Amino acid sequence: MARVAIVTGGTRGIGAAISTELKDKGYQVGATYAGNDAAASAFKEQTGINVYKWDVGDYEACEAGIAQVEKDLGPVDVLVNNAGITRDGMLHKLSKDKWDAVMRTNLDSVFNMTRLVIEGMRARKFGRVISISSINGRKGQMGQVNYSAAKAGLLGFTKALAQEGAFKGITCNVIAPGYINTEMVAAVPKEVLESKILPLIPVGRLGEGEEIARCVSFLAADEAGFITGACLDANGGQYMA
Ligand code: NDP
Repeated sequence: MARVAIVTGGTRGIGAAISTELKDKGYQVGATYAGNDAAASAFKEQTGINVYKWDVGDYEACEAGIAQVEKDLGPVDVLVNNAGITRDGMLHKLSKDKWDAVMRTNLDSVFNMTRLVIEGMRARKFGRVISISSINGRKGQMGQVNYSAAKAGLLGFTKALAQEGAFKGITCNVIAPGYINTEMVAAVPKEVLESKILPLIPVGRLGEGEEIARCVSFLAADEAGFITGACLDANGGQYMA
């Protein structure tokens, strides 16, 4: 039986590349999204991957959404916590709303989604929980105290859960991408990208979603059972922890 994977935010950007890679590797994939119906239906049309709309920051919505995915595809073996947003601003100007939005979507969501699949994984003695952090959660980034805090939070979550799940066949890992060629980065002005970001990346280019997707399929594999509590940095050499 094919293993079942859920990819949150799996219809666009890095998440779309992850969903596609897992499908190509033989997984049954459910890709979730928040509200961009046009992108989700184009993705579904293009890939044949089931798409599901719910807010990963809402626990009850996650509960109902996961139940639907499990009804359609079967119990979840692989959870990829990929959905994320930025709401940037220096702390002295950052509103409480921006703080809350980022914590809710980037960190609460990981509790919500993982809490709802972990008991099944424990019962079946197999699971892969892979969360997409960020280089900015590793090193901090000016103007992103909310995002850096949420993404750093994933590292603590992962190391603790890795210890809880190890004896039950569940691995829990983080991938920390550097700057990847997606809409999130397209929002950065071109001159800032060329003068301030690219010179910091030793390989001299942005990463591609497919390069992060390959990290996910590596960690998701049955053969990756000895890797847990790890953070895989994929950042073109920009930050070496
Ligand atoms: P995109 O903005 O391209 O896509 C985000 C995806 O997440 C979309 O599918 C979106 O749905 C979904 N999403 C957003 N909020 C919610 C929510 N509340 N509930 C459910 N789904 C939601 O992001 P990227 O591909 O650029 O980033 C993916 C992940 O990688 C994020 O966690 C990001 O922080 C991280 N990352 C990205 C980097 C980059 O350079 N791009 C670098 C380092 C980390 P919808 O389509 O409906 O809006």
